[in-house]
Amino acid sequence: MQTVADALIRLKSSKFRSSFHLNEKDREYVRSKGRDVIESHARDFVKSKLADEDPVNDGKQTPMRGHPVFKAMHATGCCCRGCLNKWYKVPMHTKLNEVQQEKIVHLLMAWIDEEMKGEGE
Ligand SMILES: [Zn+2]
Repeated sequence: MQTVADALIRLKSSKFRSSFHLNEKDREYVRSKGRDVIESHARDFVKSKLADEDPVNDGKQTPMRGHPVFKAMHATGCCCRGCLNKWYKVPMHTKLNEVQQEKIVHLLMAWIDEEMKGEGE
């Protein structure tokens, strides 16, 4: 996986990935919960939706809305194992180790941090 900064730049070149933004409701949710809680949600979603060697419903496990982290997962190409493979060459059909999971969490939070600067919709 490349650096978080490189990944965020590369994602901007994708019309689909760059179409995702936090709306005011999402931003309010992040503000009210606090960054640490959102990061713990991100960690839980990465574990439950991505970390298994063959996640249930892979390709459809991440809703398009309903939680700021879901939007971050689509925006960063971390929504399913197929996208992780395409964007970051993460091998399919293998468990994600702790280090891989943390890298994804950091990327998701970096994207959310950028959106929270108020550059989104
Ligand atoms: Zn996907």
